Amino acid sequence: MNACIFCSIIAKQAPADIIYQDEQVTAFRDIHPVAPLHILIVPSRHIATTNDLQDEDQELIGRLVITARKLAAQLGVANNGYRLILNTGHDGGQAVYHLHLHLIAGRRMRYPMG
Ligand code: 5GP
Ligand code: ZN
Repeated sequence: MNACIFCSIIAKQAPADIIYQDEQVTAFRDIHPVAPLHILIVPSRHIATTNDLQDEDQELIGRLVITARKLAAQLGVANNGYRLILNTGHDGGQAVYHLHLHLIAGRRMRYPMG
């Protein structure tokens, strides 16, 4: 049994609102959205954090961003804009240790975040 909740979602062994999936990437709605649109885009293969990326993962990490761009367009938020966040480790605020790119949109966001 895999203890990773995102691996379980990818394998459809745990419920989630999956909005895109291919062999390399899965995207699903965040269970606790912080904005009207909040999607998590994850590698379909388990990678814990940014620190675990290898040079060979360059295309994969690029695909996460390209998938975010496509979903933003499909979901109608591209023109108004959005935020992509990749939290890493304790100080980065990472809670789930399966690498994920947040796509957050639908309201005006501030920076810095604090
Ligand atoms: P992090 O803080 O690790 O960057 O973000 C983890 C995100 O995963 C949070 O926004 C949290 O709401 C979301 N999350 C945690 N558990 C689940 C789950 O079981 N299903 C879904 N869809 N999202 C989850
Ligand atoms: Zn995982």
